[in-house]
Formats: sequence, C-alpha cells, structure tokens
Amino acid sequence: MITINKHYEKLAKSYLFVDIAKSVRTYQEEHPDREVIKLGIGDVTRPLPPICIEALHAAADDMAEPASFHGYGPEQGYDFLRSAIAEHEFQARGVKITADDIFVSDGSKCDTGNFQELFSPELRVAVPDPVYPVYVDTNVMAGRTGPFSDGRYAGLTYIAGNRENGFVPPPPSEEVDLIYLCYPNNPTGAVATKEQLRAYVDYAREHKALILFDAAYEAFIRDDSLPRSIYEIPGAETCAVEFRSFSKTAGFTGLRCAYTVVPSTVQAWKPDGTATSLRDLWMRRHTTKFNGASYPVQRAAAAIYSDRGRREVRELTDYYLENARVIRRGLDTLGLSSYGGINSPYVWVDADRPSWDFFHLLLDKAGVVTTPGAGFGPAGEGFIRISAFNERDKVESAMDRIVKAVSTS
Ligand code: PLP
Repeated sequence: MITINKHYEKLAKSYLFVDIAKSVRTYQEEHPDREVIKLGIGDVTRPLPPICIEALHAAADDMAEPASFHGYGPEQGYDFLRSAIAEHEFQARGVKITADDIFVSDGSKCDTGNFQELFSPELRVAVPDPVYPVYVDTNVMAGRTGPFSDGRYAGLTYIAGNRENGFVPPPPSEEVDLIYLCYPNNPTGAVATKEQLRAYVDYAREHKALILFDAAYEAFIRDDSLPRSIYEIPGAETCAVEFRSFSKTAGFTGLRCAYTVVPSTVQAWKPDGTATSLRDLWMRRHTTKFNGASYPVQRAAAAIYSDRGRREVRELTDYYLENARVIRRGLDTLGLSSYGGINSPYVWVDADRPSWDFFHLLLDKAGVVTTPGAGFGPAGEGFIRISAFNERDKVESAMDRIVKAVSTS
C-alpha cells in the first residue's frame, strides 16, 4: 500500500491567492468594461536587462558549435558565475566569501524550502509572522510541527513583527535551533539594521543555532548603512546561510537563477555532539538532487556583473522603487500609515480595519488588487501588501483610483 507522508495532511489549505482570484473574477464579471490593476503579486513586469538578452543569445550560439557546446555543468554552478558573485556581491563590500561558498541553483524558493532537509526532525524552528509561507510549509512537510489552528502550527515559534518593533522583531525569548529571517522583508518591506541583525547572530552563536537569511530583495537597498548581507555582521560566517536570487534583482522570475551561500566556517552538530561542516553536507545534498542551472541562464546572470550590467540592474530596480514612491505618496495623501517601500519593492499598509475588508474596498471601489496581510499570518491582520512590481502608468492610475475611492468611502 502506498501510504502518504502523514505530515502533508497537516498543511493548512492556502486559500489566499485562490480567494483573491475568485474575488477578482466576480468583480470582472460585474464590471466587464473596467480594467483591473494588479498590485497583488510579487512578480516582475519589466523585460530582462539588455545585457542579459545579449548574453543569452551568445550562449545559444555557443550551444550550436561542438567546440563551445555545454552539456551537464558543475552542479554547484560554473566558476565564471560563482567567482563573479563572490567578488562583486561580497568581497567588494569587505565580506570574505569565496566562490567555493556559492551554490548556484534555479531559484530561492527551492533553496529556502530544501535547506531544512539537512537537519533533524526534532529541531526547534522559529519563523517570522507575517511570513513568506515556504519556510513554514516545508517544515510542516518535514514533520517539525503539530496541527494547524488559529493561523499557526503547534510546535513552531513565531516571531511577530508589529508596529512597535517596526516589523523587525527581536530574537525569541525561548531557545530555538533554526531561525528564518528575510530582509528586505516580504511582505512588510522592513529592512533590519546591523544592530538588529547582530542580536540574531549573538543569539545563534550563544545557542549553537543556525540562521537561514533570505536576501532575495537585497538589490533594492539604497541606504548604505543597511546591511545587504548577513555576513556584514562579524560572526555570521559561523552561524548563517544566505539565500540570494536573480529573480527580483534582474527580472529572472521566468528565467530562473539563484544561489545559496554556505561559508566553510558554518558548523552543525552530529547526534553525538561532534561538529561537522554544513557546507560539505549541503554539497552532498545539492550534487545528489540537483543537476545544475542551465549554461545560457548562468551566462545571463554573470552578465550583470559588468559595469554595464550593474548600471542596467540599477535602472531596473530604481524603476520599481520609483513605483513604490508613487504608492507611498498616494497613501500619504490619504493619511494612511505605511511601512517599507523605501529599500524594498513592497509597501505594507496599516489598513485600520480587517485586511479583507480593505482588500474588498480597494477592489470593489477602485478596481485595484492588493494582498490582504492576514494571508501571511495572524500578525498580518489589519494590513495589506501593495507590490511595486508593475508598469508605471498602471501604478499611477491605481493610486489615483485608490485615493478617490478611500477618500469618498
Ligand atoms: N524568497 C522570498 C522572500 C520571496 O518573496 C521569493 C519570491 O517571491 C523567493 C524567495 C523566491 O525567489 P525565486 O524566484 O528565486 O524562487
């Protein structure tokens, strides 16, 4: 008898995007002539940087000739990309990460989801609330939680972001072994300072815990005093793994390329208490279960590390940050408090009423789709997320409509 992993039965049905889609469908049936503007999902809309397109074409030509053809590549990624990442993303900022610490993949969703598989099922896990759901669901699948009730799983430690802590909660008061962090944050757009991250690094070192730091949105940081990498905090190289992605940085959501950083100095412990290298363990897992990101895609990713590539990526991320500014300006006009949207493409809006009520008001009266904060966890109730990933004219007209709808409601 083929029996299923019983932990899958604990997974709460995720109705968030299904319910949003249903509401949008109903609205469209009732208002067939009105264009719905979507500021709900976190997917990019702008084309790839031209330099990446050129690199893709050149790599396709390489594949056409026996002398330059590429079959299976190294599972960890080609050295041309790993070295460029280490040099430009880390060493240029004074961080001692080498190419050997970089594992290239086809996405941070898989990397953040898969990494927990290296650890014992008994691990005590802390996740943020509100949260990018992948961290939670993959731990549920692995059997590290009890049942779901009132929006939370028994057995997980939730670290709640709120107005008081500016959506950067301090480390938990109880002892945990694995901590997920995400800055700039999805969904709140908050960014942790060096001092706030230092508290987590100190906690992890004291408790022999590990931090999984998701930096998928680091390219949106403009304030130079804010850390782009957890490795800017001394000591993090012993207790943190970092996830980065080209998805939002360079518009690769449809192309797929990301990487995980596991410094050789990060330790984990065997059941008998002896220390072991986490990098070796991840290498074993990665080379067993993954066969490398494609050659043309890695060429396109490496292209962003030229002077021109850096300029084009900057223009791309600036475009979305300007959208975020337009969003914040509209919210200011309404006197609504908002967070994020300065070093991040997400604006987190204090709705001053239940999330879904505000979502429906914006959809029904303005024809604009947002994401109810309650869908990211109980601490998201009372907020909505507005995404800056859309075309400028759409963002401008969405905000005009929102201002009109809310001020007359
Ligand atoms: N991490 C966070 C916080 C995200 O919001 C997303 C995508 O929205 C990802 C990771 C996934 O990135 P990728 O496209 O590399 O799988």
